[in-house]
Amino acid sequence: MPPYVGRFAPSPTGPLHAGSLVAALASWLDARAHGGRWLVRIEDVDVPRCVEGADGTILQQLADCGLTPDEAPIYQSRRSALYQRALDMLVEYRQAYGCACSRKDIEAELQRLGRDKPRHGELVYPGTCRPERGGLHGKPARAWRLQVVPGTLLWNDRRLGPQAQDVEAEVGDFVLRRADGWFAYQLAVVVDDGVQGVTDVVRGEDLADNTARQILLQAALGLPRPRYLHTPLVLGPNGEKLSKQNGAQALDTANPLAALRAAAAVLGLQVQGETVGDWLAAATQQWAGRWGPGP
Ligand code: GLU
Repeated sequence: MPPYVGRFAPSPTGPLHAGSLVAALASWLDARAHGGRWLVRIEDVDVPRCVEGADGTILQQLADCGLTPDEAPIYQSRRSALYQRALDMLVEYRQAYGCACSRKDIEAELQRLGRDKPRHGELVYPGTCRPERGGLHGKPARAWRLQVVPGTLLWNDRRLGPQAQDVEAEVGDFVLRRADGWFAYQLAVVVDDGVQGVTDVVRGEDLADNTARQILLQAALGLPRPRYLHTPLVLGPNGEKLSKQNGAQALDTANPLAALRAAAAVLGLQVQGETVGDWLAAATQQWAGRWGPGP
């Protein structure tokens, strides 16, 4: 078994909120409970959505809560060459292809096929530009997509149990590099988890649905599959997942113990401790009892 490496990978689109601290704390506790290393990766790959200075705010909020990474954080915006190399390799080995379709083209094709039911508002790409279907038909490539292998992919979540997804049927060939030139989250996250030797992904349950896609991409790139644990979400007053988009308040770390206790409650932990250090040590012990490597 390779040595445990965990990570917290926030997108700097604003400060941490109560929900993001749950994922940060769980990934930190899991790393500590396994005697592993804990990394922070700033996922500023979607540059237009990032907010200047949010990275500094996030790192300060984490530090206030005693969650300091074991290495200096890396920034995805500085790693485009790595992502391009991975994409070039996939294209060379015919696992990824250029796509000329606009959203309108995809909608029209899905309608023609009688398959115009979007999934979570996303269109299932019908494979129009797949090489075996004639490729780009002389049009310029706008985006690059992974050619997904058919069949149901099975994976296990340490908290949610066995999971299954037929990526071809439910998502379709998904985008690796977008029409606006930015690399897609899926490619960046898989390349970075691979390069950083991440053995354990612990993150919010809202991301669980991406896992099958990421596993397919790991396999295509010859990267190992990490273990996964998706944590419970914090719901906002409207019953929806707390997020920056639905107006979640920035996490107040003036009283870090109160912030940590609230996050721990979501994780089903009840921890005593009067200082951040004592509290984190007690929380690590409790976490190890539930999710640790065992005796
Ligand atoms: N950057 C992603 C987010 O903040 C998380 C990626 C991940 O943990 O895989 O939603």
